[in-house]
Parts: sequence; C-alpha cells; structure tokens
Amino acid sequence: MTAVSYWLAEPHDPLPVVRLDGAPEVAVVGGGITGCSCALALAEAGLRVRLYEAREIAGGASGRNGGFALRGGSAPYPVLAESIGSEQTAALWRWTEAELTKLAALAGDAFRPTGSLRLAVDEEEREELLVEYEALRSGGFAVEWRDELPASSAGRYTGAIFHPPDGVLQPARLVRRLAARAAGAGVEIREHTRVHSAEETEAETVVVATDGYPSGLLGELEGLIVPTRGQVIATEPIEERLFEVPHYGRHGFDYWHQAPDGRIVAGGFRDVSLDTEFTADDVTTPVVQDALDRFVESHLGRPLRVDYRWAGIFGMVFDFVPVVGRVTDQEGVWVAGGYSGHGNVLGFACGRLVARAILGESDPLLEVFAPGRLLSPGEANLAATG
Ligand SMILES: Cc1cc2nc3c(=O)[nH]c(=O)nc-3n(C[C@H](O)[C@H](O)[C@H](O)COP(=O)(O)OP(=O)(O)OC[C@H]3O[C@@H](n4cnc5c(N)ncnc54)[C@H](O)[C@@H]3O)c2cc1C
Repeated sequence: MTAVSYWLAEPHDPLPVVRLDGAPEVAVVGGGITGCSCALALAEAGLRVRLYEAREIAGGASGRNGGFALRGGSAPYPVLAESIGSEQTAALWRWTEAELTKLAALAGDAFRPTGSLRLAVDEEEREELLVEYEALRSGGFAVEWRDELPASSAGRYTGAIFHPPDGVLQPARLVRRLAARAAGAGVEIREHTRVHSAEETEAETVVVATDGYPSGLLGELEGLIVPTRGQVIATEPIEERLFEVPHYGRHGFDYWHQAPDGRIVAGGFRDVSLDTEFTADDVTTPVVQDALDRFVESHLGRPLRVDYRWAGIFGMVFDFVPVVGRVTDQEGVWVAGGYSGHGNVLGFACGRLVARAILGESDPLLEVFAPGRLLSPGEANLAATG
C-alpha cells in the first residue's frame, strides 16, 4: 500500500526545461490545474511567465482528487441561483460547459466523456435532486432523470440526475500535460520552490493559485479560503465493470468510479469526522479510511485489497462560489481558487479567467467571484459538498 495518489504514481516524462533571463512579467504561484492553465493562457498571449510550485507539478489537490470533471459549481443549481441570481447561475453553468469542452480537447486520453450520475440516498435528497433537475431542464441544459439505476446502485439510491456533458479525468496526467504545453509556450517552471513573498518573484504581477494550500501570500484574505481535507482510496483492479460513470451521492460527500484498469476509486466521507478534516495537513486518517473501505465492501459484497490511500487539501468558501480577482490589500497580487471541492473544471476555467483579467479583459463573472466579498460574508446557508 502506498500513500502516493494513484494518479501521481503514473510514470511521466520530465518537463521541458525553460530558463527566463531576468524578472518575469507574471509569477504564478501553484502548479496545479489553476496555475498551469493560467500560465499557459498568459504565455500564449505573449507574456513572460515563471511558475513556482513548492512540490511538483500536480502535487497538490490537482493530482490527489477524485477525478470527476463536472460542469457547474460546488453548490446545487437552485441553491446557487438563490445566492447569485438565476441569470448569473445560468451564465456560470454555460461557461463551465464551454470550458469543459476546451479542457477535453487539451486533455487527450486524460479525459473520458462518460457523463456523471448524481445519486439521491433518501427521499429528502431525491426531492432536492428533482428540484435541481427541473431547474436545469427549464434552463435548457442537457440533463436526464433516472429512476432505473445500474445494478450496482439499484436498491441503495432513490433516483439520480444524469449529467451528459461531464466526464472523468486522470487529473495528474492532465495537469502534467498542461504544464508541458505551458513550458512549450515559454513558461519557466520552478518545481520544489516555495514562494515566501510576492516581492521575491520580482514580477509586477503575481497570481496565487494555491486553492486550499495556505500560501502566506494573500494578506487579509489569508485563511478565508478554508483548507479542507479530502481522502481517497484506490483498490486492487477487479474484472467486473461496475462504475463506468462517476457516481456521487449524499450531497457529494461520497464519490466513486472505476478506473480503466479496473480499480475502484472512492473518496469522501469527511462527514464522519468533520472537525478534524478542516486542516491543511494532507495525511490520511484511520476513521475516514475505514469508512471508505466499508463503503466499497458494502457495494461489492466483499472486501477488496486497497493499493493506494491518499489525502489532499481543497479550499472551501463560505458561499461555495470561486474567488477570482485582485487581492484586496496586496498591490499586484491576484488570486484564483476557492472551488469548494469542485475544482477540476473550475480550476481550469478560473486560471484562464484570471489570465484574461490580467490582460485587461472584463467578464461579468469577475464581479460574482470578487475576492473582497470574503471580508464581509453574509449568511453561510449553502448545502455541504464533499
Ligand atoms: C481528495 C480530493 C478530492 C477532490 N475531488 C474532486 C473531483 O473529483 N472533482 C473536482 O472537480 N474537484 C475535486 N477536488 C477539488 C480539486 O482537486 C481542487 O479544487 C483543484 O485541484 C484545485 O486546483 P489548484 O490548481 O487551484 O490547486 P492545487 O492543485 O491544490 O495546487 C496548489 C499548489 O500550490 C502549491 N503551493 C502552495 N503554496 C505555495 C507557495 N507559497 N509557493 C509555491 N507553491 C505553493 C502547493 O504545493 C500545491 O501544489 C478534490 C479535492 C481533493 C483534496
């Protein structure tokens, strides 16, 4: 058994080496999906970019997540509509759908277009999902309601929404690919290099793309994107094909699918120990790992050997809306993060959005994502997510 994520364990080519002479125009801090997509967009626009990563490319949540590539945001559609308005919610969903298409084109075999199955575990969740289904349908989004569930889920769940545009990633492969592409566009990538202050980068513009991993660079916003731990397991490969499509239920607290090599990848259950999981320490714990083991055993009807166990940190925000824009009290510093556990597509999209903002382009979503709102949060009334 290894504590490395199944995704990061995949062998990979070294990145092309690029060295910039002198100071970069933009320094990107964080080598996950956000930082790599931002650096790529800036370099393609002709800027001199240096990317710093304290560990290795995809060494944070981007190489440790569940691999779900979902449109939309972390909060359910109707909940988001109540919070930011129905027009902005529809715009956000449409934007993530378009970005998911771009991500898929760059990902190659790191993305499989499967759709996703959002399951209801009881009558109450079924009612919530039916409301969400109706809201999506009347908004003109592709969506299907499922009463008949695959045999592996039948009898356990009370219904599901099928989201056709979604898919599943090998997330570390995707991010390594983006990083290689960014290097190809001229980005200097410095792995194993922690940035301690914006000044030391000598860049006029600094983008903090560290989501839940505390960077120490966010001034008065530091800590307001709350570090939250998620844990995952990958079992031994099995012959049966049971979960081709990514499955998630219990308000996103449980998520699982089957990798192409037959392993079951299952994550979540942080609600068995909510308090201890608000931490930036990405280590596994017996209580959550046991819950994941039991979950897989109960679905399969037999225990499976677990070959990989890992943890990662994502950034939770009080209103479950991403945080993209200038850092309020730090001249020249920008942030993109706070995806509340839903950062594969949003990270890709927000990395590109912050790059466009730096290049002077406006977008109505930048108002919705404004970092300043973290300083005066309203009521935190949104549903929990995994
Ligand atoms: C267990 C788990 C499961 C998840 N499952 C899903 C899922 O299935 N689908 C989904 O959409 N989302 C999921 N998420 C969320 C998603 O993984 C993240 O939101 C997304 O990867 C964030 O990407 P990022 O590039 O912003 O940050 P990260 O990938 O976390 O990268 C941030 C990087 O910044 C580096 N760093 C921090 N401070 C500094 C510094 N001062 N100097 C240099 N480097 C620094 C860190 O080392 C880290 O590598 C999950 C998250 C976790 C933890």
